[in-house]
Amino acid sequence: MRLIFLGTGTSQGVPIIGCNCQVCKSTDPKDKRLRSSVLICSDETKILVDAGPDFRCQMLRTETSKLDAILITHEHYDHVGGMDDVRGINYAMRRSVNVYTEKRVIEAIKTNLSYAFGATPYPGTPKLELVDHEMKQFHVNGTLIEPIRVMHGKLPISGYVIENEIVYITDASFIPTETIKRICGCKILVINALRRTEHMSHFSLNQALEIISEVAPEKAYLTHFCHEIGLHDDVQKELPENVFLSYDGLSVTI
Ligand SMILES: [Zn+2]
Ligand SMILES: [Zn+2]
Ligand SMILES: [Zn+2]
Repeated sequence: MRLIFLGTGTSQGVPIIGCNCQVCKSTDPKDKRLRSSVLICSDETKILVDAGPDFRCQMLRTETSKLDAILITHEHYDHVGGMDDVRGINYAMRRSVNVYTEKRVIEAIKTNLSYAFGATPYPGTPKLELVDHEMKQFHVNGTLIEPIRVMHGKLPISGYVIENEIVYITDASFIPTETIKRICGCKILVINALRRTEHMSHFSLNQALEIISEVAPEKAYLTHFCHEIGLHDDVQKELPENVFLSYDGLSVTI
């Protein structure tokens, strides 16, 4: 399996429009961050986690024209804002795409894309089969997926465990004890770290590092950064041996 980081930025992305800080002005490609999303690929199967407003660009950059499923963590725009562009995948595959998430998020997607749902959808709109995973395990082409509960401020959202090896958690600010127990000792943990200072609905860098030492994965990758995190190369030097600052285009083979 391969885990490819398509985007590693928070809701505004990096650089931020109009910002002249050293991170936003950096010429290092590792400091340019689209909205957070990952692609999990095996020989047969491609699974995307989140389809934010940079979805189209991310599909083009990776020459992806086939998706077996999209897993959605929650309904914020930076995670679902690209759903209209799933049309391109529909056309290339000549079929609809299954989108797995929880009930509240399904309702939000239907509201956002009201023209694509209902009795008479507008012609040419995306064909999305919205599936309520009910926080229970399911398979996509034989790949085992398990939703796990994490909290984003007061909002309960979904993280995902893929094939019992990769854990993907974004936008969390609290992880319940049962979830910690479930993911303890996993192979790869992806977890969000917004910036150095604390935030009400996102882990800071130190909070994410605390979770990593509790979970003790083989390797951990941080994601969903804002520009305040600092320059990629500087921050990477401060991290423990098995912890990596992800960047757009990073590909990890498992
Ligand atoms: Zn987000
Ligand atoms: Zn900036
Ligand atoms: Zn969010």
